[in-house]
Amino acid sequence: MIKMSTYVVRPGDTLTKIGRLLKIDWKSIAHLNDLSDPYPLLPGQILEIPDLSGSRSRNGEEEPAHDYSRTVHGGKTVNTRTAVMLRNAEALVKTHFTLAQGSYNRGVAASAGTHDGGGVIDISLGAWDNKQTTAIVQALRRTGFAAWERTVAQGFSSRHIHACAIGDREMMPVARHQVTAYFNYRDGLARNREDTTPHPFPAWSEKYR
Ligand SMILES: [Zn+2]
Repeated sequence: MIKMSTYVVRPGDTLTKIGRLLKIDWKSIAHLNDLSDPYPLLPGQILEIPDLSGSRSRNGEEEPAHDYSRTVHGGKTVNTRTAVMLRNAEALVKTHFTLAQGSYNRGVAASAGTHDGGGVIDISLGAWDNKQTTAIVQALRRTGFAAWERTVAQGFSSRHIHACAIGDREMMPVARHQVTAYFNYRDGLARNREDTTPHPFPAWSEKYR
């Protein structure tokens, strides 16, 4: 459900002007308000507008607040910042993640200490096929995670997605190195091999390179 807000038309306003001002496609405003050519507008008229702050945070285009209070998401402990980022990614692929491993989870040898601190999670892949897995990895990347699919062939006991919330201040140094590897198109494993799949990241995450 897209949240709505409203805009009150001012003298001289046109749909294209309002669209430019609010940085949204004017045609979506016309559609939402049942306006058609020649798109008459009267000062004082109230237009429905898709809620921008909501859609931006859903897409992960703004950095989430540095809130490190503990919470549970997808069945495991994470901090609130990570939970917000996971919800942004979940909204993109319209699904809910089940976590195989959360953050602040000490002593898991297979994870080389990456999950000991904040911002690092594993997502169970369950019945998802390769195409769905790729879509989830890309959604996580677009919302500010350094994320990779991990496979049995790589030596893991089960197929999963490992993801590090870029910029997390409670992240272990070993996981920070994975974030650096991510920005360098590597896989972040011991041999740090090249990963040629797309590595998109939101603009806010670049300062954590
Ligand atoms: Zn992991």
